[in-house]
Amino acid sequence: MSASYILALDQGTTSSRALLIDRAGSVVTSASLEFRQYYPQPAWVEHDAEEIWQSQWSVAEEALKKAGVEPQQVAAIGITNQRETVVLWDRETSKPLHHAIVWQCRRTAPDCDRIRREGYDRVLREKTGLVVDAYFSATKIAWLLENVPGARNLAERGKLACGTVDSWLIWKLTRGRVHATDVSNASRTLLFNIHSLAWDDEILRYFRIPASLLPEVRPSSGVLGETDFLGSPHRIPIAGVAGDQQASLFGHRCFKPGDVKNTYGTGCFLLMNTGSQIPTSQTGLVSTVAWQRDGAVSYALEGSIFIAGAAIQWLRDELQMIRDAADTEAMALETPDAGGVYFVPAFVGLGAPYWDAYARGTIVGLTRGSNRNHLARAALESMAYQTRDVVECMIRDSNLKPELLRVDGGAARNNFLCQFQADILEIPVERAAVTESTALGAACLAGLATGFWKDEREAMAAQSQSETNRTRFEPKLSVASREELYAGWQRAVERAKGWAE
Ligand code: ADP
Repeated sequence: MSASYILALDQGTTSSRALLIDRAGSVVTSASLEFRQYYPQPAWVEHDAEEIWQSQWSVAEEALKKAGVEPQQVAAIGITNQRETVVLWDRETSKPLHHAIVWQCRRTAPDCDRIRREGYDRVLREKTGLVVDAYFSATKIAWLLENVPGARNLAERGKLACGTVDSWLIWKLTRGRVHATDVSNASRTLLFNIHSLAWDDEILRYFRIPASLLPEVRPSSGVLGETDFLGSPHRIPIAGVAGDQQASLFGHRCFKPGDVKNTYGTGCFLLMNTGSQIPTSQTGLVSTVAWQRDGAVSYALEGSIFIAGAAIQWLRDELQMIRDAADTEAMALETPDAGGVYFVPAFVGLGAPYWDAYARGTIVGLTRGSNRNHLARAALESMAYQTRDVVECMIRDSNLKPELLRVDGGAARNNFLCQFQADILEIPVERAAVTESTALGAACLAGLATGFWKDEREAMAAQSQSETNRTRFEPKLSVASREELYAGWQRAVERAKGWAE
């Protein structure tokens, strides 16, 4: 039986998914399972790592079963995962010592304030490319070592292992034979030196994290272990690993410096490929490793927007102004413009490029004639304006001008939003028909490593074939209108800043 499929494991924040992908890049079957979110205190978020593994495992089996595919027909496994979330487990029993601390968890915010007071944020920024924030893994690992009884002692005796979710899955898939992660995941920990591509000893000392805890760092494309978990006598290689946003960048075929993708979900995640150059941001973006394959490393600039589609959810759930997120498209088109209304959805402060934790949601420009269509339109427009804020920073930091913005995510289904985005950026927007760029990216990294696809071109062909009806939105707005609208947005942001102080 020939191996005709790649199995992509997409371990997300709310669900574990598995997708079986064929040589043409088509998703043959998929399965997904939600798992429990734990909120032990306000703004704390945890996952049960055992449940992550169980759910990931069962969807993998289900995807194969649905397709009637035998394990020996799977050429390789590619893993993509929620980033920054950390798991700490016992090497002997493979049991986690604590729930996983999720990227969204704010428990270590006071530790980050202390790091900034000590001035160590500058060292971290220089070495890791990241800003100091509770979002990244380092302070979460340090928290576990300080707060889980006995953990520090066990860790110092080399009894424990720690890592991001990819390394946990690899450990389980290989029955503890391999403790490894890939460079893209490592670059989100605040412990990884993106210049030397190794864990940074000085940073490890600063956080009091023993090096023996951490996984070996491997390329994103390359065989790093094998699994017999699918019940096959022949072991399936695990051959591709990347954090979800980096996998999505790869899945969008953003292979060239200057290529940018944006995922419009709850928030927005923008990444720009900067090639072999490590970007240094002067504007509040972070530098990160995109992937490593064939010995070459690609870097990326990243900007995260906290609230994007969530503003639409707010209109639906809190204002009950719409019944369905999709209603906003028709409403926005019913009015020629937002009537001067701007909506800055800074519900949890503002992320890149403002990093203002004290900004709050603001609606300005209301008049007696403002109506729900204006507000719906302003909410959609805010996603496009925030995206322009980040893209402008990317252009300034990299000196590269993107030819195209590739988009995906739930809110990218909105045609009005995509058109307005093209207008406000003056860059065409291309929407993938397949909303599976992340899984596809992980599958491609695995398929390229094992010769399933001969080269990038063949993998690219597979991807474009599976996306025959990509939709392209061309900029249409006049320069004057565009700049006038954007200037209004910038004034609105000024009103939202620093509000909670
Ligand atoms: P996540 O992965 O962050 O949960 P998704 O990619 O599933 O997000 O996208 C869901 C988000 O997109 C929600 O915040 C929802 O309000 C928004 N959304 C979904 N469909 C539309 C639409 N047609 N127009 C505008 N926003 C939408």
